[in-house]
Amino acid sequence: MGKVYLTGAGPGDIELLTMKAHRVLAEADVIIYDRLANPQLLEMAKDGCEFVYVGKEDGKHTLPQDEINEVIYQNALKHKVVVRLKGGDPFVFGRGGEEGAYLHKREIKFEIIPGITSAVSVPAYAGIPVTHRGVAVSFRVVTGHESPNKETSQIPWENFKTDDTIIFLMGLHNLKKISSKLIEIGKPKEYPCAVISRGTTKEQSVVVGTLEDIVQKAKGVPTPALIIVGKVVELRDQLDWFQT
Ligand code: SAH
Repeated sequence: MGKVYLTGAGPGDIELLTMKAHRVLAEADVIIYDRLANPQLLEMAKDGCEFVYVGKEDGKHTLPQDEINEVIYQNALKHKVVVRLKGGDPFVFGRGGEEGAYLHKREIKFEIIPGITSAVSVPAYAGIPVTHRGVAVSFRVVTGHESPNKETSQIPWENFKTDDTIIFLMGLHNLKKISSKLIEIGKPKEYPCAVISRGTTKEQSVVVGTLEDIVQKAKGVPTPALIIVGKVVELRDQLDWFQT
């Protein structure tokens, strides 16, 4: 039986891979990957390595999670080194926990290789620090997948009144609802926010606006994209360093 490496691929720029991830990619007998992982990473594999795509498009699931778990397990029965490559960090909205728990149940050894999450690195490449002395003392990373109007929502919207930075992943399709909800709980309409698409890559684009006009400004922006809300967005005027 093999060992599974639940491996973070980083946000896009392949140089943001960890050395440990680089090592296991080169040792892998099979790499199970999804849409967010940069395909160039697969070039690090040795000859004869197998590739299995289990990615999900927005909304469309190519494979349900329990089938992905099973694919990983089956590969661990056949191969010595199994790399499960996931965009960003495997435990930040990456369902790495579910995959690890399934392997635990099946008594397969695994390791977690953390990755640089898009939540922090994508704003960094847009010149936006997620915390900044005197501006934001904390940041939150929130799923934007859930509609803010959902009655059973577990998201503590009322807590978002402070100036802490809020980063929404998987939220582009809910941008209108998210920005309206933040205005509804009392944030000013002119409160700064940004949408960053394909961050850290050559296709990176950044739209800066306010809670009121961001929907209009970010129309047609391609995925993957994240939303960042907070006064830290204004620091981009001084900190935008990444020229594409
Ligand atoms: N585990 C990943 C996140 C998975 S959820 C991580 O740690 O980064 C997928 C969401 O991440 C996307 O919907 C998008 O909001 C965000 N995302 C991932 N890569 C991105 C990128 N290069 N640019 C902008 N957003 C990105």
